[in-house]
Amino acid sequence: TLELNYPALLKQNAALLAGSWVAADSGEYFAVYNPATGVMIAQVPRMGRVETERAIAAAAVAQKQWRTLTAKDRSARLKTWFALIMQHQEDLARILTAEQGKPLAEARGEIAYGASFIEWFAEEAKRVYGEVIPAPLGDRRLLVLKQPIGVTAAITPWNFPTAMITRKAAPALAAGCTMIVKPAEQTPLSALALAVLAEEAGIPAGVFQVITGDAREIGAAICASPVVTKLSFTGSTEVGRILMRQSADTIKKLSLELGGNAPFIVFDDADLDAAVEGAIASKYRNAGQTCVCANRLFVQDGVFDTFAQKLADRVAQLQVGDGFVDGVTQGPLIDDAALAKVESHVADAIAKGARLVSGGKRHSLGGTFYEPTVLADVSPDSLVFGEETFGPVAPLFRFKTDDEVIELANRTEFGLASYFFSRDIGRIWRVAEALEYGMVGVNTGIISNEVAPFGGVKQSGLGREGSHHGIDEYLEIKYVAMAGL
Ligand code: ADP
Repeated sequence: TLELNYPALLKQNAALLAGSWVAADSGEYFAVYNPATGVMIAQVPRMGRVETERAIAAAAVAQKQWRTLTAKDRSARLKTWFALIMQHQEDLARILTAEQGKPLAEARGEIAYGASFIEWFAEEAKRVYGEVIPAPLGDRRLLVLKQPIGVTAAITPWNFPTAMITRKAAPALAAGCTMIVKPAEQTPLSALALAVLAEEAGIPAGVFQVITGDAREIGAAICASPVVTKLSFTGSTEVGRILMRQSADTIKKLSLELGGNAPFIVFDDADLDAAVEGAIASKYRNAGQTCVCANRLFVQDGVFDTFAQKLADRVAQLQVGDGFVDGVTQGPLIDDAALAKVESHVADAIAKGARLVSGGKRHSLGGTFYEPTVLADVSPDSLVFGEETFGPVAPLFRFKTDDEVIELANRTEFGLASYFFSRDIGRIWRVAEALEYGMVGVNTGIISNEVAPFGGVKQSGLGREGSHHGIDEYLEIKYVAMAGL
């Protein structure tokens, strides 16, 4: 069993709808497992369409009140929520590691990162400014008001069970919207724990609800509802397309944060040690299961062999194991399907001529543990070039010229994160501008924080999260023309 200082954070058999902790109408549950051990941690309600419709109705009622609070009042409650999350950081991290598998140190980091969005948008709540536009006619004054978009919903993934929720809920609530969250079935416990603390922070009934259960049914009910005016989704491009299609009938506003296929380019003038550290952080964090993880590492011919060797030496220091064990830096993969995908990508790369530098097989710990892997001289025909591996595999591709690598880097339908290492200021500008990506890390493998706009171009999605732009996704612009003055 999971030892917690505040056991009430581990919610069993209930989700938060309309201010009450309730079971599914059907009385059905589903189990949540620890991916490191296969042991069941808890059961949560298997809800569906009817419960979703009830949550939407409650969110609509609650929003009428919530939007009338002063920004300062909403801000104060969000700040209290932030403080409670930080106060319970250790328990929340333990719940996160238990259901998701990432090392406890990373889980603590995610709780702080997740909480930072609540603090940031508590501050931004007070800075939703309108405009006064100089009018073309003398008797007029033209105004722009910003108003909350209304009832919103979020569907979130398992790789960041806390941060992907707070990044959406914080700007929504700050703007005066209400939000219904449907967390991933693998990791609902972190979402429910957030809801426990939201209640304690004085977020009123119906303003922040968490519904667990059948993803398709809940998703379809959200999309079909004309009351829900905005849906924010983080997950696969495939499911993003489904939700976009389903949202067409109600012309729902969408924020989509979908798959990536991040290039990580090492030019021959790079600081190679810094590039290795960047690659370790960007590639092996969360066992490679993030949408901004380096997916393809392009290394210039002159430094290729040195970089490959330095990376392999550093990878040899990674510790694979249960995230609760001290010193572990790489946990298990989330499930068997994830493991199968990693295995197929590695086998395919080797069949197409890649050289195995380190790892390359399941870890001796068994389960869904996989060895941190480095492949060299990978062919651009390989599956790893076109698809997100979502695992601890670094495929190294060799290149000669800047033009060649920019073409290779952009040869994908995705456009989320990208990274490169160089010390030449001209090259830095040229490459940063030429990469068709929503985010570019120059001489760093870590780019996410609450003050910067996170999001993708092309088929990696729509909209931005975090930064002062993040709250705009939850605001409508209303133009008021005043005449006859
Ligand atoms: P992943 O491959 O990372 O699990 P998914 O896109 O499958 O990513 O899942 C992200 C979120 O989308 C999860 O909360 C999942 O339950 C939800 N989801 C999956 N399929 C659907 C669907 N058809 N409709 C609505 N939500 C879905």
